[in-house]
Amino acid sequence: MLTRTYRLLLLNPKVRYPHYVNQTELANLLGKKSISYPLSLPLIAALTPAHYLITIKNEEIEQVPFKQQFDLVGITTTATSMKRACEIADYFHSRGSIIIMGGTGASYMQEQALAHADSIITGEAEGAWKDFITDFERGKPKKIYRSSQVEYRTSPLPRWDLVSTDLINSLPVQISRGCPFRCEFCVVSELFGNKMRMRDIDDVISEIKSLPVDRIFFVDDNLTVNRAYAGRLMAELKKLSINWTCQCDVRVASDKELLAAMADAGCFSILVGMESLNPQSLKDAGKYHNTVERYRNAVENIHNHGMHLFASFIVGFDSDTESEFERIRLFALDAGIAYLSLNILTVVPGTILYERMKKHDRLQNNIPDFINGIFPSMRYKLVSQTGMLDAFFSALRRMYHIDSFAQIAEKLFSCGSFTRIRSGRVGFFIKLKISLLLVYRYIFKSAKHRMLMIRLFSMAGRGILSYDEAVIFLLSMAGFEDYLQKAGKFIPEARKVIAAADPGPLDLRKNPY
Ligand code: SF4
Repeated sequence: MLTRTYRLLLLNPKVRYPHYVNQTELANLLGKKSISYPLSLPLIAALTPAHYLITIKNEEIEQVPFKQQFDLVGITTTATSMKRACEIADYFHSRGSIIIMGGTGASYMQEQALAHADSIITGEAEGAWKDFITDFERGKPKKIYRSSQVEYRTSPLPRWDLVSTDLINSLPVQISRGCPFRCEFCVVSELFGNKMRMRDIDDVISEIKSLPVDRIFFVDDNLTVNRAYAGRLMAELKKLSINWTCQCDVRVASDKELLAAMADAGCFSILVGMESLNPQSLKDAGKYHNTVERYRNAVENIHNHGMHLFASFIVGFDSDTESEFERIRLFALDAGIAYLSLNILTVVPGTILYERMKKHDRLQNNIPDFINGIFPSMRYKLVSQTGMLDAFFSALRRMYHIDSFAQIAEKLFSCGSFTRIRSGRVGFFIKLKISLLLVYRYIFKSAKHRMLMIRLFSMAGRGILSYDEAVIFLLSMAGFEDYLQKAGKFIPEARKVIAAADPGPLDLRKNPY
């Protein structure tokens, strides 16, 4: 019997206000469209039977094929992309497609998702995709597929052959699911559970070897949480000559043996959730494994191993005033942190924080477009929403201003550890393009820019850092400048919306929560 062919579109919708931490502008300067790509799309494609003609699109960097006809449209969602996901769902629905949504948005905003989709999968999509496909082909898809946590010892090879990987700087790989902690603002342990599930290392290595690029982003929320596993993984990664970045909890910074193994295995940047310089806020957030007194040492240890720290901070906990933004900026400058991920506390559906804010009627301006870390999305205890927004962008503008770049570079590179040459295939024409770009962005822009470039290349000439590091630093800072220029255009319209519904700080006489 002949099997019918189905046309399937797997889609990631665009968010309205991007966060600068995505570093899309840096990707553009490197001749790419994005730093990474949503792993769920090629992963779901890998789980789909062979009689489906699959198209994968990430609206952040690609056009949605609105003129094409699809039997089935699968949309991955977050709280932030939910509004756009619903618009796209309505469009394809009107053209006769069946719509299924998954991801954290659909999992925790079920009512909203089901108003636009035929079906949703909650939790880890792998667990329920097969059942959904069977029901879909029978013409009887259920409304909700509740997926249980999959075993996750192995994972199918994502279908990167369906993605234009030449547009992407680094490809995502995931080795584990779960988190043993339960921070109030985070959805990870709610979604993946507190028990860590680790893939077999052989399975991970086979996937990496199959990738068409040698730059990887480990999307795990905590790559090194299982110390023994991390040690074995580093030994295997070392054999591959790849460059990679990852996310870890702050404890990694006190394990010098592991840091050395990571650097040796090709790691060049670690994102660490430091979250706050205010000890009470760490307690408020349930982030008990962080200790502010150890932060300086943590930064130095990571830098001394020739790896960058992408330090993530949040302001807006109940003990925070807006002065925390400035305090964090000064800390970052003083510690030579070039990559600072600054965030306004965001209330994401599915988190403990969301439930607490809902209970105490503090979910003002909690609309999808603003659930992204750069806009307020709840009523803060000590600061108004516009106060948060203004202080956030003021700190960001001062952090990523030419006047700060030289100070950051001096501090960062003075340790003399950033001398590695990043392995990887970079063609002659790309190198030429980047050189011309640097001349344009630094030599012709201003005297301060010119001085910075000369200073860094003279340090590189003296062997204090590698030329690769100098180039990446200059491009990264230029990328942040570009983002702030773009943000200057979208902040006023968003600020107007926020100001119109800004409830001000909490009136503690009426609401002590
Ligand atoms: S913030 Fe990090 S440590 Fe905390 S629950 Fe989320 S993933 Fe785990």
